[in-house]
Amino acid sequence: MSTYNVTLIPGDGIGPEVTEATRRVLESIGIRFNWEYQQAGMIAYEQTGDTLPEATLDSVRRNKVGLKGPITTPIGTGFRSVNVGLRQALGLYTNLRPGKTIKGVQSTFEDIDLIVVRENMEGMYSGVEFDTGTPEAGEVIGKINDLSARKVAIDAAISIKVITPEGVRRIVRFAFKYARANGRKKVTIVHKANIMKFTEGLFLKIGQEIAAEYPDIESNDRIVDNMCMQLMQKPQEYDVLVMENLFGDIVSDLVAGMVGGLGVAPGGNIGDGIAVFEPIHGSAPSHAGKNEANPVAMILSGAMMLRYLGEQSSAEKVENAVADVIASGDRVTYDLREDRDPAKAGGTSGMADAIIERVTGRYPQA
Ligand code: NAD
Repeated sequence: MSTYNVTLIPGDGIGPEVTEATRRVLESIGIRFNWEYQQAGMIAYEQTGDTLPEATLDSVRRNKVGLKGPITTPIGTGFRSVNVGLRQALGLYTNLRPGKTIKGVQSTFEDIDLIVVRENMEGMYSGVEFDTGTPEAGEVIGKINDLSARKVAIDAAISIKVITPEGVRRIVRFAFKYARANGRKKVTIVHKANIMKFTEGLFLKIGQEIAAEYPDIESNDRIVDNMCMQLMQKPQEYDVLVMENLFGDIVSDLVAGMVGGLGVAPGGNIGDGIAVFEPIHGSAPSHAGKNEANPVAMILSGAMMLRYLGEQSSAEKVENAVADVIASGDRVTYDLREDRDPAKAGGTSGMADAIIERVTGRYPQA
């Protein structure tokens, strides 16, 4: 049996607790892992003065696969998002976010089975930004005002949206390849080409060119605001959705909400031959250190990692065990309970134990 070398980044807030729960569940399958623990985020900053140490990036580059907990990014402090930095440094251009109904999870929608493919490295999150009142912003604004009929106020803060032909080609290709490999029927290109004629116009134009290379997969396009409304009204008409970074961030949270919230929504960041899996949710600081956070999103991210490693039947085993525990209501975390009572809930480690019992068959069958 082979051993998988995996970089494990526990992260901040609830990260270490949900990561530990996930490590235990994945090991219970019987697959051998060599976990290489690395830090990123606030903990890394306290220990090394760097939020994204080179050693962490090197470890993922070497192992080619990582599993990561959420990381705290303080708002408006100039502290750059470690997540954006990590995705850019490792060329993880795809953010894959499945939204599938799990029986027993309370939600307004039923039978949802959607895949959001979000571009991860450019768009509105290109990282090209200039702060209000800085000489750099002044210079950029001066140049814009020379070249553009539409003038920009000199004290504006500026974020640059970047869409490149190659960036669109690879993300849309990923969506169609994913659809083909996973028996999916349709890819919808989501955009705002009616307003952002050049950036979003390019996304749509190249997206449609790529779609023509996959005649076996149905394709269409939707403007992002209409897409959100249609997801609320007729989600069954959609299958795989592909879009730029900011839209993907928002639409994937919307889809997560449709299947019961962030606590059960996994994700993966994938590049060419390298991938880091992580839940969609953040570090939820108010739940940190209380053994009450829901580990499911992180555990299902671990299952996505197993699929990426080619361990399909083990991934299925984990997914079925999670679904079984949720459906039975046995030792689930407070957010999965109707009464939301933490006193009666399973806790993070208790829920992991219940999942492990199903995975290993130690759970007494009725
Ligand atoms: P959040 O996802 O941490 O929390 C949003 C809400 O969902 C909160 O009510 C929280 O308690 C709840 N929640 C989230 N995960 C949960 C879980 N596993 N179990 C139970 N409840 C859960 O989002 P936020 O509050 O906007 O962000 C907090 C921090 O996380 C910020 O610093 C943000 O930048 C960061 N963040 C990191 C990532 C990442 O590392 N990938 C993603 C999103 C946010």
